Amino acid sequence: MTKPPHHPDSSFHARLHPETVAVTAGRPERVVDAPLNPPVIFASTYIGAHDVSAAEIGYGRYGNPTWQALELAIGALEGGRALTFASGMAAAHAVLELMPPKAVVVIPRNCYLGVADAIDRRAAKYAWQVRRINVADTRQVLSAAEGADLVWIESPTNPTIEVADLPALGENLPDTSLFVVDNTFATPLLQRPLECGADIVLHSATKLLSGHSDVLLGAVVTTADDAQTLEALDAVRRSFGAAPGPMEAYLALRGIRTLPLRLRQAQASAQILAERLVSHKQVQRVRFPGLSDDPGHDVAQRTMWGFGSLISIDLADAKSAERFIDGCSLWGFATSLGGVESTMERRRRWGGELLSVPEGLVRMSVGIEHVEDLWADLEQALDQLS
Ligand SMILES: *Cc1c(COP(=O)(O)O)cnc(C)c1O
Repeated sequence: MTKPPHHPDSSFHARLHPETVAVTAGRPERVVDAPLNPPVIFASTYIGAHDVSAAEIGYGRYGNPTWQALELAIGALEGGRALTFASGMAAAHAVLELMPPKAVVVIPRNCYLGVADAIDRRAAKYAWQVRRINVADTRQVLSAAEGADLVWIESPTNPTIEVADLPALGENLPDTSLFVVDNTFATPLLQRPLECGADIVLHSATKLLSGHSDVLLGAVVTTADDAQTLEALDAVRRSFGAAPGPMEAYLALRGIRTLPLRLRQAQASAQILAERLVSHKQVQRVRFPGLSDDPGHDVAQRTMWGFGSLISIDLADAKSAERFIDGCSLWGFATSLGGVESTMERRRRWGGELLSVPEGLVRMSVGIEHVEDLWADLEQALDQLS
């Protein structure tokens, strides 16, 4: 009944640099008068076949050529096979749906709130045992992983920007636990968890992959030879109807074309801003693995190809953080992250945020504006606090 989605061989892209893969993957076949870009196919239904197995798609909840183009691109970048979902949370729920009742689940102490909430809901309903760990403490993760059915790692973490040693985890985690890595903050340009031994990579493609704050979209990626897990996730997508819109898939793919350029710029600016923020007297702490004294620096240096575009800073208290945010005119006050436009928010304004996250912590998503304009805006807002 469940047919694996159609994915041509990706060995061609395995030989290319990620910048090239981002531009070339998921293109239509090169025949005369074919469009260069995959068209947006708006279809709830397709012409049928008496022999159902002869049909590629069949129905709009089962597949769509525009999703497939996006899936080829995400799969090629991560070095696996991708399935897209209506949102990152829909993708996360599909993974959690694979877990049985009474599962033992290891999750980060700090991670995306929606994921923590999704796990808590299922834990209450299905008598799961949840073990919370610090992703940066490899020994703690490994000991919590004993007898675990699922080890869910997010790295770097939201909003405290902690870094996990993915190669060390992949090497030492028990084969019996499903190893999932939420790669939303790093993107496949900074780390490829499947190559470190992850079974599933999760993305909120809403963020950096799409990159323009105009799309909600999620993805899961499995290794190329793990058809079983991919099929299980596809079965959940079909059944739950957590299907992406074709226009969203098109926009996300269009965003991916420029991901390497956007990330390069945002990351370079983040490094400069983090270094300057450290020496501002209103800033108590800067959390960014690109700083040589950051707790995540050594691991990130060894295991990642860059330090990313997210910085969190600790200001004195909630009031200072609010005044700082209101004092900025270029940086937008908004949740979410990874767009071309720089945004920031005080995380504790969310009732569900962990109490271990300081009241004055501001998470900053660096965009691609000129770094001097970004700094001038931050500096004058910080100066106003004194
Ligand atoms: C945003 C986000 C999600 C959830 O994705 P949506 O697309 O908002 O559903 C999951 N994980 C991380 C790390 C995120 O930042």
